[in-house]
Amino acid sequence: TKIIAYHVRDEELDIIQKWEKEHGVEVKTVENQLSADNIHLAEGFDGLTTSQNKPLPDGVYETLRSLGIRQIAQRSAGYDVYDLEEATKNNIIVSNVAVYSPESIAEFTLTQALMLVRKVRRIEERKEERDFSWQPEIQGRLLGEMTVGIIGTGHIGRTAAKLFNAMGAEVLGYDIYPNDEAKEFLEYKESIEEVIKQADVVSLHMPATDDNHHQFNYDMFKQFKPTAYLINNARGSIVDTEGLIKALDDGLLAGAALDTYENESSYVPRDNRETGINDEVFNAVLDHDKIMYTPHIAYYTNVSVRNIMTIGLDSTLEVIQTGDTKNRVNDI
Ligand code: NAD
Repeated sequence: TKIIAYHVRDEELDIIQKWEKEHGVEVKTVENQLSADNIHLAEGFDGLTTSQNKPLPDGVYETLRSLGIRQIAQRSAGYDVYDLEEATKNNIIVSNVAVYSPESIAEFTLTQALMLVRKVRRIEERKEERDFSWQPEIQGRLLGEMTVGIIGTGHIGRTAAKLFNAMGAEVLGYDIYPNDEAKEFLEYKESIEEVIKQADVVSLHMPATDDNHHQFNYDMFKQFKPTAYLINNARGSIVDTEGLIKALDDGLLAGAALDTYENESSYVPRDNRETGINDEVFNAVLDHDKIMYTPHIAYYTNVSVRNIMTIGLDSTLEVIQTGDTKNRVNDI
């Protein structure tokens, strides 16, 4: 059995080698994403996996079918680059990796909350100036005495709730579909408004949908406590970034940690040192002293990297061996 894996980074090669040995399967790796230039390399392989965020080549599903390949195993949770109907028409199974390490994003959320309430950025800046005096501007608060609001209480949200709960915080939650697992760590409220009015930290963990585009806007921030913090590790589009900046400038809330920005896709993940950032709003985020920005790295741990690759290869092999996979996202 032979699998071809596109868009493989150097740090993933050891994981692949180990998987090859464990499964007795050969994996050929390609550095780039799947494209019109390199799709022919898939000829003669039994299965294909990629981590695609660029558009797929035209007619990709017909081409794969003609090469005898029956599936694409996407190595990420999101799969919006795929035309699922077209894939189904061509008998191509598309799979994703929906859950790979909720703990990774949850632990980063806790990190951000602690950095915000302990004013770590300001402490670092003062260190650079050699100002080691104790002043109220760097006096911290105790997360354990705070109320934390979790919006979206799925795999990641409820894991974050568990961590905040362990810190002693009172955790409130809102979800359009509440679940019993989360109830162990948080108290559900009937509306987002009820949560944000009481919360000292509001953390977003729901998917981006048509309904929640810019749901967190200037009017919503009016209902926040002026001392509250917002954390967004979900999707940039949920927050109206300009509204957030204005709300921070007007003192409607105290600060924010953003791991996602609504128009990040041309800049993240990549090295922008040569070209800079040509997006006024993004630059305002990066320069704002009340915003802690990180480039979509909440997920990025050794465990996530290992699980994403391993689950992607497992799904590929599952289709080769059984004709289907539990991680399939299209109809067949
Ligand atoms: P999940 O599907 O397990 O949970 C999502 C929860 O949100 C579900 O309980 C669902 O009912 C709820 N929900 C859906 N729409 C909602 C709405 N409008 N309001 C309130 N709740 C709503 O997903 P997950 O694995 O916990 O991931 C959550 C999100 O985290 C993903 O959609 C993704 O956008 C984001 N994410 C970010 C990173 C990162 O590195 N920053 C990594 C992985 C995932």
